[in-house]
Amino acid sequence: MESPDALQVTLPSPLVVLDDERLLRHGVRLLLKRDDLIHPDLPGNKYRKLHLNLRAAAEAGHGALLTFGGAYSNHLRATAAAGRLLGLRTVGVVRGDELAGRPLNPSLARAAADGMRLHFLDRPTYRRKTDPEVLAALLDRLGPAYVIPEGGSNALAARGCAALGRELRGSADIAAVACGTGGTLAGLAAGLGPRQRAIGFPVLRGGAFLAEDVLRLQREAFGGRRGDWRLDDRFHGGGYARSTPELDAFGADFAARHGLAPEPVYVAKMLHGVFTLAAEGAFAPGTKIAAVVTGAR
Ligand SMILES: *Cc1c(COP(=O)(O)O)cnc(C)c1O
Repeated sequence: MESPDALQVTLPSPLVVLDDERLLRHGVRLLLKRDDLIHPDLPGNKYRKLHLNLRAAAEAGHGALLTFGGAYSNHLRATAAAGRLLGLRTVGVVRGDELAGRPLNPSLARAAADGMRLHFLDRPTYRRKTDPEVLAALLDRLGPAYVIPEGGSNALAARGCAALGRELRGSADIAAVACGTGGTLAGLAAGLGPRQRAIGFPVLRGGAFLAEDVLRLQREAFGGRRGDWRLDDRFHGGGYARSTPELDAFGADFAARHGLAPEPVYVAKMLHGVFTLAAEGAFAPGTKIAAVVTGAR
């Protein structure tokens, strides 16, 4: 395998001012942290979460990666791309055996085109994927591999995302980020400076439980709770990959005003949260908010 350091990445990612009268009215300045520009095939937090895992896989002499995700997982797609770029075998364990033998959706088709071997797992077994016996059976069947958990979030992923927080030191009061597994928030918050704080916007229902996961990841990665962070779970818009007319209208309006259509599954929900909080008067005049653009449309 090639060293992950050989990947051509744009880091630190650009930080750009985005003036919006709806925020300026409340004295709030918005900056976009353009992590979506880090790498064309490993955009956003996916590069940040993968790169230390790729290095660990290389150091351990692994020739293959095995990871998990749903049928629309950006993480599966990014892992497949990393495998192609670095000459690693990749195996994607996909939730739901009803998908086996059916035409692949565009996301899985892209992963397969990048050489990822897809293994569809029935839902009850998928739920137990971290059980040692289930994992051992998978590795037995699919070959030895460096294992990355669902969504790519482990201690190395959180450590990789701490760089995102460090890049934002001194340039904003608050960092806003969308959360799936919470790995990005865990690292981001740990990397921020002392007077900065982070707000995470879960895109799944029941996001309040995510605080436990973020805390667990921070313990594993850094030895304890780090940074000043909280979750606001009001903006999931009905759940993962779902939306509401209000959220759709917000995204379309944002695109019309700024010529930048926010990625709908994560980024639009986070921006909607930031704008709603500003309208609620949650931010003191003079507050600078860095919104992390974790992915592109
Ligand atoms: C994967 C992903 C996230 C979620 O990151 P977590 O670390 O799982 O919270 C956010 N935004 C985009 C665009 C993503 O692809």
